[in-house]
Amino acid sequence: MKLSQLGSALKIMQTEARERNAPVLRVESAKTTPFRALVFVMLSARTKDDTTLRAVERLFAVADTPEKIAGLKTSKLETLLYGVGFYRVKSKNLIKTCNVLIEKFNSRVPDTLEELLTLPGIGRKSANIVLARCFGKHVIGVDTHVHRIANRLGLVKTKKPEQTEQSLMRVVPKQYLRSLNKIFVAYGQTICQPVSPWCSICKIRNHCPRIGVKRSR
Ligand code: SF4
Repeated sequence: MKLSQLGSALKIMQTEARERNAPVLRVESAKTTPFRALVFVMLSARTKDDTTLRAVERLFAVADTPEKIAGLKTSKLETLLYGVGFYRVKSKNLIKTCNVLIEKFNSRVPDTLEELLTLPGIGRKSANIVLARCFGKHVIGVDTHVHRIANRLGLVKTKKPEQTEQSLMRVVPKQYLRSLNKIFVAYGQTICQPVSPWCSICKIRNHCPRIGVKRSR
């Protein structure tokens, strides 16, 4: 895909994913504050978005600040987060992260990559999602959907998500960086799926070289 086609392709991808009720778009309401977004991305690894959303809602009904969550017993937190992948590890990391927020950041979510990476359980992808979503930074959180679709479209030619982030930051116009994660994830959940993408109904297929696609529907 030519970079000049990216803007219109993103609009089409977002519309198509919304019509198919992409899970990542359904959970936008869970990320209304930096703290909620941080907790959501911490819990979402290896977990379906709907499951994460239900867990975040259960948690925030009981404890909605770093102080309140840090004050929960680990066993109580585990009960609230049950169903989320690796909920025991994530429960411990969440309590540790809340304590760091209280002690080092005045109970606020920091707005730099370096500071976010000091929080237990927060990696580069999660940090970038929070920075783009909540602080308006022009960065990209690269997960498997973003990595896969960027390569299929020929925007990058990379083997690992870390390389994809660097390559996308070099080639993608600044105005598209913040929305790229959400739109690619939504499209990856509904049309450009991992194993067998729906190329036959994809409305950007005329611009997609389908690099690496071995089987499609
Ligand atoms: S044509 Fe196929 S590989 Fe390309 S974006 Fe569409 S679904 Fe993905």
